[in-house]
Amino acid sequence: MSEKKVFLIVCDGMADRPTRDRKFETPLDVAHKPNIDELARLGSVGLVDPISPGVVPGSDVAHFALLGYDPFRFYTGRGSLEAVGAGIRLAPTDVAFRCNFATVDENLTVVDRRAGRIKEHTQDLAESLNGMRITSTPDVAAEFHSTIEHRAVLVLRGPSISRMVSDTDPHATNIKVAKSTPLDETPASKKTAVALNEFTEKSFEILQKHEVNIERKSRGQNPANIVVARGPGTLPPITPLTVQYGIKAACVAAVPMVRGICKISGMEVLNVEGATGGLDTNLDAKAHAALEASEKNDLVFLHVKATDIPSHDGNFEMKKKILEKIDKMFGTMFDQIDLGNTYIALTADHATPISVRDHSADPVPIVIAGPDFPPSGLKKFSEKNSAHGNIGRIRALDIIPMIADRLGRAKKFGF
Ligand code: ZN
Ligand code: ZN
Repeated sequence: MSEKKVFLIVCDGMADRPTRDRKFETPLDVAHKPNIDELARLGSVGLVDPISPGVVPGSDVAHFALLGYDPFRFYTGRGSLEAVGAGIRLAPTDVAFRCNFATVDENLTVVDRRAGRIKEHTQDLAESLNGMRITSTPDVAAEFHSTIEHRAVLVLRGPSISRMVSDTDPHATNIKVAKSTPLDETPASKKTAVALNEFTEKSFEILQKHEVNIERKSRGQNPANIVVARGPGTLPPITPLTVQYGIKAACVAAVPMVRGICKISGMEVLNVEGATGGLDTNLDAKAHAALEASEKNDLVFLHVKATDIPSHDGNFEMKKKILEKIDKMFGTMFDQIDLGNTYIALTADHATPISVRDHSADPVPIVIAGPDFPPSGLKKFSEKNSAHGNIGRIRALDIIPMIADRLGRAKKFGF
């Protein structure tokens, strides 16, 4: 194992878009973050295109690029990442869907896409659907597991099935649950749509009679009486980092999708108490888990979701506050890190500007400090300053190869 260690820290949606009405100041500009600013001074700074200029990334696609996998080549849908992140083993031929327990009326019109954000007894509900026999496609088996709150994962297993089918989740209320349709002409897609539609209809028959729902109704709560599915995916055909570069890596993340892609890329995915993926997440616990993991790994990937949440809400003040909390996490890590033999990189998977309240294609700042990344001399880590940094402008896809090179793990291209 290489002597040198790497921490790659990704704050989801951290970057913002400077706008005239705010005097071009972003939460990164105004947050009090002495540790991160010091990192920017000591390390090399630049801008990163999450995918390429003008391409607005989802977090899943952005993470493919961040881990060094070209999403245009390797992205095969979201459901598989969620399934692996939830601890489900997938075969290359399986098709996995992200699901919600939802509430529908007797005509299958959606009343509530999240079944009153049900928290209790979802496992009991899931058990009643897991292993369901699908009679119209008898060689397809349905595996179904609840995950967090109203969320769940469906895996369809069988020969000749495909992820090229439409969602049953109508993504809105007051309309009927959608019928899945094949998105191409192949028999596999037709068969998968048939299987998914039968699963959906049967989920209603089984769940509406379930005792958990009878009790919910008696308490005036929305019953979780159907499962709606979206985001079909198959295992992406990627070579793990461990194999590609011989990099031993671990991941500290709470979001199931991020845990999924990290696991598929060959990382050990750690469980950290108090890491919730929410605003209340325990950043100190995450920092300590990352430091501990670095003892046995070359690279530790640390993901913080909390910056993306206020960004989607358009809450500037909250985003600033979260950045200040994250800065304290950096303080904890700095005390234990020797930049003489350790690289520490901080970036975002994409920008989620307050002014947009959604992801955008803006480039995001990056800093990499370590034994051989010269100091930028910049006084502050921000979107504007990063444009004047000494890394220049790179793609997210370049980060892992750059790090692998510094670790002496990159293979020569050519003679
Ligand atoms: Zn994201
Ligand atoms: Zn987001």
